[in-house]
Amino acid sequence: MTDTAFSSLPLLPALLDNLQSLGFEHMTPIQAQSLPLILEGRDLIAQAKTGSGKTAAFGLGVLQKLDTNRLVPQALVVCPTRELANQVAQELRRLARLIPNVKLLTLCGGAAARPQAESLGRGAHLVVGTPGRIQDHLERGSLDLSGLNTLVLDEADRMVDMGFYDDIVAIASHCPTLRQTLLFSATYPDNIRKLSARFLRNPAEVKVEVLHDAGRIEQIFYEINEDQRLDAVVKLLAHFRPVSTLAFCNTKIRSHELVERLQFEGISAQAIHGDLEQRERDEILIQFANQSCTVLVATDVAARGLDIQHLGAVINVDVTRDTEVHVHRIGRSGRGEQKGLALSLCTPEEMRWADLVEQYQGAPLKWADLKSLRPQSD
Ligand code: ADP
Ligand code: MG
Repeated sequence: MTDTAFSSLPLLPALLDNLQSLGFEHMTPIQAQSLPLILEGRDLIAQAKTGSGKTAAFGLGVLQKLDTNRLVPQALVVCPTRELANQVAQELRRLARLIPNVKLLTLCGGAAARPQAESLGRGAHLVVGTPGRIQDHLERGSLDLSGLNTLVLDEADRMVDMGFYDDIVAIASHCPTLRQTLLFSATYPDNIRKLSARFLRNPAEVKVEVLHDAGRIEQIFYEINEDQRLDAVVKLLAHFRPVSTLAFCNTKIRSHELVERLQFEGISAQAIHGDLEQRERDEILIQFANQSCTVLVATDVAARGLDIQHLGAVINVDVTRDTEVHVHRIGRSGRGEQKGLALSLCTPEEMRWADLVEQYQGAPLKWADLKSLRPQSD
């Protein structure tokens, strides 16, 4: 698995320490894909939806390059609405907490322009704002972007939809040609393609798949305590009675514990792990295919490359800390027209990984109580 720890990146200690204190340990998928490129100084087109952690992706890139001794705007983040601009500003402030004396200004409509101009006169390192107001300040001469090194267009598709295309063109024309440009967009239609062709130099492109056909898979999370995990799997199987189940564990040890427990309950379960010989693996897979084994217990490593699809259910015995792995795990369930079923057991410690899944899918997770589970008779 790729290393998604922030500490695997060459970030400044002040940024890494702060991420740790914020509880940001692992990168979200868009961060993992885009941050290395951003830190290399590449122009970038990133396609990712709301809640995927874009602010930290560009924010860390901007802060890494920031020279606080130069009190001129070094980065400009253009956002479609005042609310989004304020959110971005707030998140940037959080990310910059351990860098002394960072001056950040927001320039949005709805507030008087004069005090904004005065603040600009006193100097700023980072500017976040909406296209119209930024453009106003450029025209009045109260905003000087000649010292800029990074231009960020956040939610570019929304800005274009809202009629800001010309403002963006005008803003970019005030920026030095030699700069890094980062464009974030949930979709990548022709008008955004056109915009990026105009402003970006040899951009890298990254795209994070959203939970595709999220509606195709019924996802239910259950909050449990650590000592309930194995019991809970037994209860889920008795309640939902899936024809075939793939149960994912984060560790090999857990997969063995689970198989032992399931076999004790009279459930035909087998573990598939890396230590098995090819012949044994094949044997288990045949048993699983002909349903003489109904629960296959696997770690992510062991399940990789296995063509096991169309399952009755996927059970996440442990929540994975890698959201993309989660998406792959649950994507294996569901057969043809039938809806998939993905059941996840989550301890309080794992709650943050569940939160990442929620951010990733952009919709609240569905939670249920273990107590609601009832064994079904034939
Ligand atoms: P987007 O701009 O893609 O909509 P945000 O940048 O606003 O998403 O991030 C959404 C939320 O996720 C924020 O509350 C942010 O603090 C949090 N977040 C971002 N990256 C991480 C991470 N690596 N670990 C934990 N939380 C994160
Ligand atoms: Mg955002």
